[in-house]
Amino acid sequence: MSKRKKSTTAFKKANKFIPGGVNSPARAFSAVEMDPIFIEKGEGAYLYDIDGNQYLEYVNSWGPMILGYNPPQVIEELEKQLQLGTSFGAPTEVETEIAELITEFYPAVDKVRMVNSGTEATMSAIRLARGYTGRDKIVKLEGCYHGHGDSLLVDAGSGLATLGIKGSPGVTENTARETIVAPYNDQKAVAEIFNKYGSEIAGIILEPVTGNMGVIAPQRGYLEFLREITYKNGSLLIFDEVMTGFRLSRGGAQELYAIEPDLSTFGKIIGGGMPVGAYAGKKEIMDYVAPLGPVYQAGTLSGNPMAMQAGLTTLKALKKEDVYLELEKKGQKLEAGIKKNIEELNFPAYFNRVGSMFTLFFTDKEVQNYQDVKECDLDLFAAYFKEMINQGIYLPPSQFEANFISLALTDSDLDKTITANYKALNKLKAE
Ligand code: PMP
Repeated sequence: MSKRKKSTTAFKKANKFIPGGVNSPARAFSAVEMDPIFIEKGEGAYLYDIDGNQYLEYVNSWGPMILGYNPPQVIEELEKQLQLGTSFGAPTEVETEIAELITEFYPAVDKVRMVNSGTEATMSAIRLARGYTGRDKIVKLEGCYHGHGDSLLVDAGSGLATLGIKGSPGVTENTARETIVAPYNDQKAVAEIFNKYGSEIAGIILEPVTGNMGVIAPQRGYLEFLREITYKNGSLLIFDEVMTGFRLSRGGAQELYAIEPDLSTFGKIIGGGMPVGAYAGKKEIMDYVAPLGPVYQAGTLSGNPMAMQAGLTTLKALKKEDVYLELEKKGQKLEAGIKKNIEELNFPAYFNRVGSMFTLFFTDKEVQNYQDVKECDLDLFAAYFKEMINQGIYLPPSQFEANFISLALTDSDLDKTITANYKALNKLKAE
């Protein structure tokens, strides 16, 4: 602990002036019962705390930093923009350039509206789905997190799951009532909901591959089923690709699984480390948004040039051939190493990975939905987290989160992680 004296002092002070000492609950290290680590700088695959400790890092600022920290090309564009101005509240050409690039990556997208966070993106997409269909009800899946908008704070993953919160005071009963929840990967449950409420459902929103209850892939045929049932019922299929967009492939989960949703939401990577979100879809739906259409949504800083430059430069870097192959190779190496450790030690753990997202679940059975994650040994997870951080490997501090692999990770970084994982599991086994 004395290794992080300055962080402990900083956290004490932060608690005086900021609720819980953090500006987002997931950062609080609540589930691992530690003080959060205060960061001074990031570089490549590494973070450095204010005590001068170095960490090999798998949080990627919760997803955005796919190129690693401080990529030179992004910094260069930001420095140039800084000289020109940080915000104008008037159109700039870079907004069109990034929107055009997104339509190139995503065949299901004709038009894009930029906002400032993933939360805003999903809130706006839900409003648009309701406005466009003239219906009120939304279907969401248990353990999926779509930001903290009222309609979607029901049985959500990420920070709510970590803290064991089912909903939130402040969300009215009437709002919560319009959100119907089904377990992930359960076709029957969704079919029953559509049988009962089909003509009232504006849309279904989901993480096509989940990250906010840890990484779970859709079962074969599941996304196809959702595409078909929404189409048949005149409801919209909304893929929340805030986490998976530009990460699982250039075209996100929708490219990987070859499914075209009606609306998509983005965040994280799309802003290259700056606060950005976006919602996007076919022209006829997106043209329902103001100023063309009646659904209102706006933003003082939306599409601001600093954020757009960081996003555009990041997306351009992801356009290069082999980027996703390289991420997949890193993922495969890590997966093989950790699975070998689990096997050798006969340790009760289950490793899930899709592309550069993975979660090590502390359970001896397959993880397919939120219920399975809730049955994991959370104490064992906390002990594992501590073993890893003490070896200088910084993982997301909750079982209900995804780990991210960045392009900055080298083979030797991955070897270091696999060795640390072996040591940690071996120690936990002995205890
Ligand atoms: N949707 C998904 C799938 C997310 O992972 C997140 C954030 N983790 C959000 C929405 C909300 O994004 P933000 O935190 O930028 O509001």
